[in-house]
Amino acid sequence: MRIAADRLSAYVRDIFMREGCAADEAERIGRFLVAANLTGHDSHGVVRVTRYVEWLREGEVEAGRTPEIVSDAPSFALVDAGYGFGQTAGPFATDLGIAKARDNGVAVIALRHAGHLGRIGEWAERAAAAGLVSVHFVNVAGSLLVAPFGSVERRFSTAPFAAGFPVQGAEPIILDFATSLVAEGKVLVASRGGKALPEGALVEPDGRLSSDPAILFGPLDGVERDNQRGAGAIRAFGEHKGSGLALMCELLAGALTGSGTAGPGRRRICNGMLSIYVTPKVFGTEHAMADEARTYLEFFKSARPMPGAEVLLPGEPERRTRAQRIAEGVPLPEPVWETLLAAGRPHGLDGDAYRD
Ligand code: NAD
Repeated sequence: MRIAADRLSAYVRDIFMREGCAADEAERIGRFLVAANLTGHDSHGVVRVTRYVEWLREGEVEAGRTPEIVSDAPSFALVDAGYGFGQTAGPFATDLGIAKARDNGVAVIALRHAGHLGRIGEWAERAAAAGLVSVHFVNVAGSLLVAPFGSVERRFSTAPFAAGFPVQGAEPIILDFATSLVAEGKVLVASRGGKALPEGALVEPDGRLSSDPAILFGPLDGVERDNQRGAGAIRAFGEHKGSGLALMCELLAGALTGSGTAGPGRRRICNGMLSIYVTPKVFGTEHAMADEARTYLEFFKSARPMPGAEVLLPGEPERRTRAQRIAEGVPLPEPVWETLLAAGRPHGLDGDAYRD
């Protein structure tokens, strides 16, 4: 099925208002989840609603938390989200970084104890729209999902990395990925009838490679998905190099921020994010930088493609999908739409009525 983005975000907003969120927070949850669907990252879109509702009811994430600035300096801040929604903490921390970098040239923002921050590229895009370069290291405390290079046992979260680079007069470069071969949400989407996983994205306890979501979630009966039920792991991307980047994400976003690393032991689930913001003005190179970047990116795009392939810039696939989905609506597999209908039903909300 397909549904217009604004209707889908209104439905998600209404679900979270009924679950106890204030109107502005519920609106952000709807808007940012649907924004992820618009970019094609369905793994970080409305497929998450059921889990967010569970977390809210269990107190894993808390509605109405105002992020607290724990320590503050002209070009530095530590922000504690108090396990509030990432859709509140994410824009707060990013806007703080943007303001500090504008005033002082550069800023480092350590964000801890945030609810799910969703698609991290969203925050890099927000900084790029303000004319800033940004780099983001992220982890998930308490979420052991990914085996390091050479192992079959989980030691990392899916620990995403993102970077944004604004280009005056052109679209920004937005690089944004999980350091696992696939994001957990992609396994979730595959387990609900969405796009299948690439071969070998997962590893079984005996070292065999697999693409079966049950390796992560255990038996796929019912709508519940518990990533602790599966015996295997997602594999880190990029061999030893990707595994090393995942380790740095755990250390920078988990240890340096005080948010907590993926393990060991049971920890309260939350995102940590260490972000660096730079205004090109600080080096006095902003005009030369823009010229050089545009020339270089044209040169990059002119690379002769392999047969049947296309040379794309990071951020380009998301922009294309966004344009298409704004025009045609957000496609959702029926099983995902069913979970959304089920989330609205106890509140007397009829999801189908939002489609008209
Ligand atoms: P992915 O594998 O789809 O990679 C996306 C990146 O690669 C983007 O920068 C995209 O522009 C670029 N890209 C894609 N195809 C390209 C091509 N053909 N040529 C050039 N560049 C190309 O992403 P992923 O690893 O599946 O991650 C999905 C999302 O999950 C990300 O938005 C990430 O932030 C998010 N995530 C969030 C959390 C969290 O805890 N909040 C955890 C893990 C992942």
